[in-house]
Amino acid sequence: MVAADPRRAIPSTDRLLALPEVQATKTRLAPHVIRRVITEAQNDARHGELAPDDVAPTIINRLSALSPTRLSSVLNATGVIIHTNLGRAPLSDAAREALMTAAGYVDLELDLRDGKRSKRGMWAKAALLSAVPDAEDALVVNNGAAALSLATTVLSVALDMPEMVISRGELVEIGAGFRLPDLMVSTGVELVEVGMTNRTNLDDYRNAITERTGAILKVHPSNYWIGGFNSAVEIKELAQLAHEHNLPLIVDVGSGLVDADDVLTDEPTMSAALRDGADVVIASGDKLLGGPQAGILLGKTEIIQRLAKHPLARAFRADKFTLAALEATLNSPSTPIHDALHADSKSLRERSERVAQELGAEVVAHDGRVGGGGGAGVPLPGWAISLPESYASALRTGSPAILPRVADGRCLVDLRCVPAEQDKILMVRLREVANEVAS
Ligand SMILES: *Cc1c(COP(=O)(O)O)cnc(C)c1O
Repeated sequence: MVAADPRRAIPSTDRLLALPEVQATKTRLAPHVIRRVITEAQNDARHGELAPDDVAPTIINRLSALSPTRLSSVLNATGVIIHTNLGRAPLSDAAREALMTAAGYVDLELDLRDGKRSKRGMWAKAALLSAVPDAEDALVVNNGAAALSLATTVLSVALDMPEMVISRGELVEIGAGFRLPDLMVSTGVELVEVGMTNRTNLDDYRNAITERTGAILKVHPSNYWIGGFNSAVEIKELAQLAHEHNLPLIVDVGSGLVDADDVLTDEPTMSAALRDGADVVIASGDKLLGGPQAGILLGKTEIIQRLAKHPLARAFRADKFTLAALEATLNSPSTPIHDALHADSKSLRERSERVAQELGAEVVAHDGRVGGGGGAGVPLPGWAISLPESYASALRTGSPAILPRVADGRCLVDLRCVPAEQDKILMVRLREVANEVAS
């Protein structure tokens, strides 16, 4: 007699779907998700990777571990404050609450007093103008790149004056493979590069202006800096030159700092750029501003209104979540980004020592970084718990996921960007990993 093929013992889809535990997940997961989990387990069994008897319990386990989104929250233990791979700025409690409110029906374009249509985004705009009184008007779009595309299109290309003068030192790649000049050229702009990589002077700009020039553009080279023999032209002088020629000066400050910050003394601010004469200032919402992803345009009413009326403004328009979270960020006292930037080295050390003691680990000096789009090269003195490198992958793949920094063969856990109330959770997880590694 031939032994029965064990694969014939794999439970059928109908039988698996009928299990009460599987039925119960129907309130949490869509039918296609449940079916996919079932099919995958059946396939595992067909390939001999799972015993037929284990199919049902495996499905029940896998379903209980699934949630409708695969994004996981991560404890940022890298010391890098604006971490692009971790979604840049974490939001303040106020902004998170605003997102929950915005998730339902909201008075986005409705005046509840008279029941008539109102202006979308008016509260975010009011918050911007209140935070940055130097701006006459404001417009919020999807992100900084959209803001820059809109400004270059409306102020230059659409007027048939496609030339835009920019310093060679400001032709930057701001993220992996994302080069700002490529973006601008894609809108139809002809970039007129002036000066040298390290030095550009006012005459370089002046000599490049023709009747085809639409605007002068100044871009903050957010992620690198030039030392040594270098000079750039200040916004004040550029504004004067632009206005002598009846041209607008567009300034992309990148990081969205509202006012001067004592930790980042060289970082441009939206307020100062406007005071110095910029006609339009562009910034991202989710860098140093500490809000949601957004492109912020501030400046003269006449120009901002022209930008707002262009058809592209509709394509770039911010959604209700962005508007709600941005307004809440601007109207509340602090953000996690600000707190991490100003974290006190002494209390960081105490927190680190407390965690390290539990593990018998050492605390070492470790500089934090601002990260994406600001404070390039500015070290933020702090501390890290130094652990064997092998901890890193266990921390990343565990629950909660923890991203440490790996450097010089060590796994460094920096608490700068970890909310203090999460220290306990982090410590428990570190202890678990220490046990796993030891066994
Ligand atoms: C980050 C940055 C941008 C792009 O902003 P996003 O919000 O990422 O689209 C543009 N210009 C500068 C100078 C930047 O630093």
